[in-house]
Parts: sequence; structure tokens; C-alpha cells
Amino acid sequence: MNNIKIKEIVAKGYINPSKLPGYDYVINPYVGCPHRCIYCYAEFMKRFSSHDEEWGTFTDVKIRSTAVKPVYLQNKNVFLSSVTDCYNPLEEKYCLTRQLLEKLRFSGANITILTKSDLVLRDIDILQQIPHVTVGFSLNTTDDVFRQQIEPCASSVLSRLYALKTLHENGIRTWVHVAPIFPELSDWKAILEAAEGFTDSFSFENLKLSYTALPRVLLYITQQQPDVQELYDLIYHEKKMDYWHKLRQEILDFCKERNLAATIHFSEENAPQE
Ligand code: SF4
Repeated sequence: MNNIKIKEIVAKGYINPSKLPGYDYVINPYVGCPHRCIYCYAEFMKRFSSHDEEWGTFTDVKIRSTAVKPVYLQNKNVFLSSVTDCYNPLEEKYCLTRQLLEKLRFSGANITILTKSDLVLRDIDILQQIPHVTVGFSLNTTDDVFRQQIEPCASSVLSRLYALKTLHENGIRTWVHVAPIFPELSDWKAILEAAEGFTDSFSFENLKLSYTALPRVLLYITQQQPDVQELYDLIYHEKKMDYWHKLRQEILDFCKERNLAATIHFSEENAPQE
């Protein structure tokens, strides 16, 4: 959280129509994200902010907004969050996500949360009052040294697994989003083994890199993971997709064998869809 420029802004509203498949609305209580993942797919949001600073060095807090109208959300699918983490470290102080969940708990909406933070445990009391809520954790490694290199300000692997287990034991529907899968570096089988028993389902997404994230991630690979550099060149420069095709089948076979509910969201594109 050092060197993050924090600004409180007045937002027009929290709940926006979503283009994400399967979701009617999306809620992003913050603009920017202090988790600073090196592959961050949300960097394009800088265009819609007033910031010149580097992505990951600022976060706007949507401190006041128009009132939430839960009545319109009956049976709607609502996702938190698509271009920030709604449980990023600022949430500890500002409690925007908590306040929103309090307002939405009787709305009849199907609420899906995806986070890389164990701060979600703070809101277990509210989550238990929401009839249709699912909490997911993104996890792409069980190696916390690698995690620290690529997601320096998110919760540790063990903290996320502990939070997953705690939510599950408290009757909250959970899911693990194995994403983004770094070719040859994400030990996805180990994640499944660590989380099996504490999650209702798994989903999988491959690493896609925007034109701004591409040089950052490839520099990291060159400097820290030279053994896989050739493969990354093949995928991200030569646009060869064979690796993903093989991996997709391997995951499907593994999950079928273990009787695990799995959804694969692999894109043929190397860049994220905005
Ligand atoms: S948690 Fe998500 S939005 Fe935040 S930096 Fe990481 S990838 Fe970007």
C-alpha cells in the first residue's frame, strides 16, 4: 500500500450494466487497484479516469453515490468486481463493499464476488444473510514466492485458502477461479488438491496480456523465469495456441476423473477483451 495515491471521488452510481457473460450488473466500488498484479487486465480503465500516473499507483474511492435501489435487482446477476478488487486493502478503512452488501442483502439479486483478499472474512455476517451469494478466490499458484512476484499486494496463498475454507464451513457457496494460468508456472493441479473439499466449483482462465502488460510480464519472465521464455515467446509473440489446447483437455480430463465441477474460460486471443 506504500506509494498509492488515494483520492475520494463522488461517483454517479455503483451499479452499472455489465457486458460480462452471465452478469446483468457489475459493481466496482474503487477506480484502480492497489493489488498491483503485474498482469493486471484492468489497466485500460486508466483511460476513463483523470489520472496520468502509472496504473497501480493510484486508487479513487467512490465515497458517495446515488442510492442503491435493491428493488430492481430481483433475480439479477450482480458481479463484484470486474476492474478492481472490491476487497483491496482500502476496503478495510472505507467499507464500501460492506455497505453495498448491507444494502443488497434483501434485493433478491444473485451476488457473485471474486477477490484475491482474505478481507472478505470480515463480512461473513452479512454474507450469511444473503440468500444467493457466491464468493470466489482467484488463485494461480500454491507457491507464495511466485505469488509475491506477480501479485505483490494481494493476500498470500495460505490466507486465501484459509478464507475459502472458513467461508465454506460457514455455509457460504464458494468457488476457485484458477486464473490467470501462467504457462508452465501455475501449478493448477496443486491448487485443485489444496482447495478440493472447500469449494463448490472451479473455473479456469488462461493468461491474456494487454499491450501494456505484455512487456512487463515478458520482462519478468526473462529476468526471473528464463527456463520458460521460449514457450512465452511462442505463445505471446508467435501467437501459437497449441499449449492452451493441450492444457484445456488435460484440465477437463483431470476434473472428470476427480468428479470436480469445472468451467474453462480459455480465450484464443492473447489479449484480454475490454
Ligand atoms: S486484483 Fe484484479 S484489478 Fe486488482 S491489480 Fe490484480 S488483476 Fe488488477
